[in-house]
Amino acid sequence: MTASLDKGISVLKEMIDAPIASYFSSCVHCGLCAEACLFYTETGDPKYTPIHKLKPLRRVYQQEYTLLGRFAKMLGLSKPVTDSELEEWKPLVYDSCTLCGRCSMVCPVGNDIVYMVRRLREGMAISGHAPDGLIGASRRAVEIGSPMGVKLAAVQAQMKHVRQDTGIEIPLDAAGAEYMLIMSSMEIINFPEYLGAIARIMKQAGKSWTLCSEAFEATNSGIQIGVSDIARVLVQRIVDGAEKLKVKTVISPECGHAYTALRWEGPNLIGRPYTFDVLHILEVLDGFHKEGLFKTSGFEDERLTFHDPCQLVRRGGVFDEPRNLLKLVAKDFVEMSDAGKMNWCCGGGGGVSAIEEAEQLRLQAFKIKKSQLEQTGAKTLVTACANCRIVIEEGLEHYKMHIPVVGLTETLADHLVEGEKP
Ligand code: SF4
Ligand code: SF4
Repeated sequence: MTASLDKGISVLKEMIDAPIASYFSSCVHCGLCAEACLFYTETGDPKYTPIHKLKPLRRVYQQEYTLLGRFAKMLGLSKPVTDSELEEWKPLVYDSCTLCGRCSMVCPVGNDIVYMVRRLREGMAISGHAPDGLIGASRRAVEIGSPMGVKLAAVQAQMKHVRQDTGIEIPLDAAGAEYMLIMSSMEIINFPEYLGAIARIMKQAGKSWTLCSEAFEATNSGIQIGVSDIARVLVQRIVDGAEKLKVKTVISPECGHAYTALRWEGPNLIGRPYTFDVLHILEVLDGFHKEGLFKTSGFEDERLTFHDPCQLVRRGGVFDEPRNLLKLVAKDFVEMSDAGKMNWCCGGGGGVSAIEEAEQLRLQAFKIKKSQLEQTGAKTLVTACANCRIVIEEGLEHYKMHIPVVGLTETLADHLVEGEKP
């Protein structure tokens, strides 16, 4: 990715499509989006107001597409956006936006601020103003196949561990399987128990499934950095794998943005519908349970609460499924304040967790999650996104809160009744 100011500015101009123009022209400067954004509420700094983060894009919009803006530009009253300004803006466009979409929910005129930030990121990335952490992750995703550099051998090592622990042989490249499982690198490296949990549940449910050697990674760094071409390549890789194996359904893992990237954005990115369905793992498990394909026994003893991953719940619409599943295993489940579609982000989505320079701000923004959690009195936090899980664990560690964070799939598998058919 080479730096080129002209290209960046011209991309910014190209980014201003009809929705962006209408969003800027309809903004009534009410400031409601500020109160919805954790980076503003937890710092009190007005520069973190969502609509303010878009200032360079707004300037280009005004200078190019409004009469007053053109005059102002002609008279030298409105200066063109410069290279150094874009560099200055980088922390606002990347470090302080998790693409969580909470601001878009409250905007009285319906501005999709996530869409606007994504468009701005596109111009920033192409002009060489993306954070190093995201550039490295995107490069690894394209060249190696995974943003964390995970190779097939690491997946095969996890498959071997599952075989040793459970006796279950996980199929690889099994053509004609009903389901193809993809995983995030975070799960492969940090939470190998996820794969074992799936293997046990699939066996109990009697379903055919497979991993794909050419498409095991779900993470889409292209969406995070804001480069559609990269996002398209990564979606296409999964599509090619799924179509080669002729599976019916691709299962998106416990990862928020991977789900929205593949399920809701993927067909537009590649310009055609898929020949298979995409479901989040929790949708699959809830469906299995409703069909009576597995049973659970016993309950978690202590109070549990659930962190709704933004991309899965607010932007992905998977709200009931985690709750249905939690009720199977939790006697004392309490919701956080603002749970569901207005839940607060963990602070590390949208690529923020991969930006080293953003760490202090992220920990500051985490105070809202800390407070939500404290109010519940929960002894364990359950979630369904490996990235949220890591970010929350780091936040809890920082604030010296000793609350375990677990994935919902493995929590469910802990209570799975195996052997007898329901
Ligand atoms: S998407 Fe989330 S993090 Fe980004 S500006 Fe809106 S509320 Fe803030
Ligand atoms: S909530 Fe909407 S209208 Fe109000 S300042 Fe934010 S973007 Fe503008």
